[in-house]
Amino acid sequence: MNTLPLFFNLNNKTVLIVGGGDIAYRKAQLMAKAKAKLVVIAKHFEAEFLDFLQSHHHVFFQKSFEPADLNQHTPTLVIGATDDHEVNLVIHRASKAYGVPVNIVDTPDLCDYIFPAIVDRNPIVIGVSSNGKAPVLARLIRAKIESSLPSRLGELADKAGKFRDTIKNSLPTITERRYFWELIFDRALKDETIGTLSDELNQFKNHDTRLGEVYIVGAGAGDPDLLTFKALRLMQQADIVLYDALVSNDILELCRRDSQKIFVGKKRKDHTKTQDEINQLLVDYAKQGHRVLRLKGGDPFVFGRGGEEMLACQAAHIPYQVVSGITAALAASSYAGIPLTHRGIATSVRFLTGCYQTNEPFNGLNSTYQTDETLVFYMGLHALTKIIDSLISAGLPNDLPIAIISNASLPTQQVLTGTLTDIIDKKHQSNLIAPAIIIVGHVVDLYQP
Ligand code: SAH
Repeated sequence: MNTLPLFFNLNNKTVLIVGGGDIAYRKAQLMAKAKAKLVVIAKHFEAEFLDFLQSHHHVFFQKSFEPADLNQHTPTLVIGATDDHEVNLVIHRASKAYGVPVNIVDTPDLCDYIFPAIVDRNPIVIGVSSNGKAPVLARLIRAKIESSLPSRLGELADKAGKFRDTIKNSLPTITERRYFWELIFDRALKDETIGTLSDELNQFKNHDTRLGEVYIVGAGAGDPDLLTFKALRLMQQADIVLYDALVSNDILELCRRDSQKIFVGKKRKDHTKTQDEINQLLVDYAKQGHRVLRLKGGDPFVFGRGGEEMLACQAAHIPYQVVSGITAALAASSYAGIPLTHRGIATSVRFLTGCYQTNEPFNGLNSTYQTDETLVFYMGLHALTKIIDSLISAGLPNDLPIAIISNASLPTQQVLTGTLTDIIDKKHQSNLIAPAIIIVGHVVDLYQP
């Protein structure tokens, strides 16, 4: 972060602006909007600016800037907006000597603070800055935010501010109050009609909101761009996040900042928490009124034990939602460029696991393999030899193509291809690591390194 965004209270504080042209005028309008007292110094003023200063009874002087002006007016901020670089330098030097933050317009090197592009829905104020690197981009982002926010947001935020004490008295716990506001503001952001806040409060109190909820959410295979909108929304609502080893830090960072994050990861041999313990945690936290996010790699219902978590919620009568994620097989397929079905090559796909519940490795296909089928193995890297042996003894041709995709969708993705005969040697010579997906079938021929 090059600069820290702060929201500065300028109410009734003096801002000294040097300059009488368009840019100085715009800054003066902005400062006036923030209710600052203006002192403007310029040798020459544009007529419109002069009108503005006079009609709003601001203080201005038609003269050159002198360092002594600072002692005289004791400003909280200084803005240099003249078109004379030498004068701007004098303003900068004098402000530094006096110890007041200064901004010399369009000269980042001479700025202690910079003006962001602003969305003003008072009391909601949003500032966007590129730290002087790409102001046009900042303005476009501002326009995008501006157009996505319903127009009456500021008004609602204002009413909410006035209603806070009433809410505090009616809803005793912070959690309840947070639910209430989230419900209201979520609807406001979707531009839904909101009744008066007291009606909304009554309605809210008539519903039982004390029971929490469980969100069983697939986070996709690793690339944060694979998250669904729904996943992201629930990630930003949850109070408690129980996450897996396969969920990356980049994804975790998108969860609500103040949520409690608990690692319950399971690796093949190293289980931090048993599945029963995880199920119990979900139920217990939800019973305490929390919204619990169970964040899982890929899709929760594909070799993810999300089904067991759902059953635990059902048994405990806890409300839950399941959100699909992009499972590793699909991510590996698209990011490596190996279609799982392809006209004329493969008409069906089978998802298999290289490791069963008891940690036994794969021990054979339980129905006949057709050559127009694609096999996809999860959790198969450590059991590769066993898998290949079983496939060959099931009668699959020795020269059948096979691909191993490690860290699919991540910058560290690696793809190794070969045949059932040579892949084990190739894997030994490589440095492929888990997690990895194994794809078997003629579709692998479509792979382009
Ligand atoms: N529910 C997850 C799968 C969990 S089982 C899903 O739908 O993707 C764990 C296995 O998923 C790993 O052993 C590996 O085979 C696979 N896997 C998960 N993420 C992966 C990734 N980014 N690249 C390759 N394989 C991955």
